[in-house]
Amino acid sequence: MCSESVTDEKHIADLAIKNGYVYTVDEKKSRAEAIAVSGDKIIYVGSNSEIESFIGPETKIIDLNGRMVLPGFIDSHAHPSMAASLVATVILNNLPSLEAYQDAIRAFASANKDKKAIYGNGWDNTLFPPIGPRKEDLDAVISDRPASLMSEDGHAIWVNSKALEICGVTKDTPAPQGGIIEHDPETGEPSGTLREDAMDLIHNVLPPLTVEQIKEGLHAYMEVAAREGITTVHDAMVLVPGHKGSLLGLGWYRENTTAFAALAEENKLTMRVRASIHTSPELGVSQIPALLIECENHKSPLFQIRSAKVFVDGVVEGGTAFLHEPYNHKPGFCGEPIWNPDDLNVMFEALDKEKLQIHVHAIGDAGISMTLDAYECAVKANGKRDSRHQVTHIQVLAPGDFKRFSDMGILGVPQPMWFKKGSNYKELELPYLGRERAEKEYPMKSFMDVGVIMASASDFPVSMPCPPMLGIHGGVNRCEPGVDDPNEILGPEERVSVEEMIASYTINGAFANFLEDETGSLEVGKKADIIVLDQNLLEIPPSEISNTNILMTIFEGKEIYRDK
Ligand SMILES: [Zn+2]
Repeated sequence: MCSESVTDEKHIADLAIKNGYVYTVDEKKSRAEAIAVSGDKIIYVGSNSEIESFIGPETKIIDLNGRMVLPGFIDSHAHPSMAASLVATVILNNLPSLEAYQDAIRAFASANKDKKAIYGNGWDNTLFPPIGPRKEDLDAVISDRPASLMSEDGHAIWVNSKALEICGVTKDTPAPQGGIIEHDPETGEPSGTLREDAMDLIHNVLPPLTVEQIKEGLHAYMEVAAREGITTVHDAMVLVPGHKGSLLGLGWYRENTTAFAALAEENKLTMRVRASIHTSPELGVSQIPALLIECENHKSPLFQIRSAKVFVDGVVEGGTAFLHEPYNHKPGFCGEPIWNPDDLNVMFEALDKEKLQIHVHAIGDAGISMTLDAYECAVKANGKRDSRHQVTHIQVLAPGDFKRFSDMGILGVPQPMWFKKGSNYKELELPYLGRERAEKEYPMKSFMDVGVIMASASDFPVSMPCPPMLGIHGGVNRCEPGVDDPNEILGPEERVSVEEMIASYTINGAFANFLEDETGSLEVGKKADIIVLDQNLLEIPPSEISNTNILMTIFEGKEIYRDK
């Protein structure tokens, strides 16, 4: 039993939580029964009898009847600002045909006459081989304003003639490196589909989603997050508003930093947000001054940027992850890194010198090795410091690289809800990687065994919704909820304990975001970020974890969600 309190000046609590199974996630993994909160802080953690002295006539008392209490969850890599695409654009997902798409777009455009550009999401590539959907089919339903609709997988956009015209894309426009402009085979004119980096030709020019639209998306996200017990999130892709480099088609979000700052200013954030700011390979070190200004501009308690985001490779499912050995389905082809290794070394050295944290997307084993090489260059040049650099996704690992993470104090940021043999695994990862590599993908215990700090994450909206409970389930079981066939477990030797998974969503996430003095555990002096669960994760069978619900979420002493 743990018992601690502010002794010299004893407060009367605003809120007293009693009769709980409080798993504090402190250093000693103590359990307690009760928590007292004054304002936004925890002032006592301990027993039912001792909390009585903190209770006054005004104290609100919550009797938990033995329910489990944890620190608020921390999602260490998500894209909350992309929720705007769920509320401010036309959604085509799951519609069956071009005609159904056209009906939805027509209806959305007429209901949104004030929007300067019509954006959308979710069309299915398989309906439009081989050159993608055509501008004429979009012109037929919207011709007065530019329209751009992103495919389900986020790797292509479908645009109308107005968008091509405004953005100056003609049959003579060369595709940027890594991008494709589809053309009509007869006329040679752009046919209406642009892929990969060519999406920037449109999305960096059209009016972006407005600050209001992004705020609307963030409100929707925050509601979902509160329901799932998330009180801190790391947005892994905020943008310098005037960024001139490649943005992977995400230029429509280029006001997202402004939107977060506005919500912070208006006191409307119901969670703590930390963020990484996107960098483009072609701009290299020249973009660092702009990043530093952006970090300096955002220092409010609930919204801060101190980290640079670097994409080192793509994804296995697209054959764009960078591998040491060739893909199984494409002999001789290993994929390519997004950065050239020398440029990456120079960039990391420069970012680290400015004391920026670095948050890397790396998926293939060669991409991860190359990332570690660049981190090594930074350490060599600038010395070892408390940098807390990170690598997220970490799907395919070279066996010698685990130790390099721990030697340099690099953190892993995995998405444990992906630890399973689902359809992605069976249809894409297995044939692309071959059995040996596929079965070893998404290691977790191998990292923890050598002392790497693992801070778990959802990658929302790639995973949607984004419950940490599903991630805890994935980390402990490594199979889909409800599955009990042992052959369906992805790398059983990589399963970790419930306690380790809870830590990865709480105290490790706090450490990853330089917040361990503020949140991540239930201890006196920390912010009162507290959640209540409907079952005790430490007592139920592991297969039941995903059925656990959040009954209450408290952020900085305020109740932001209660299960009705
Ligand atoms: Zn991501």
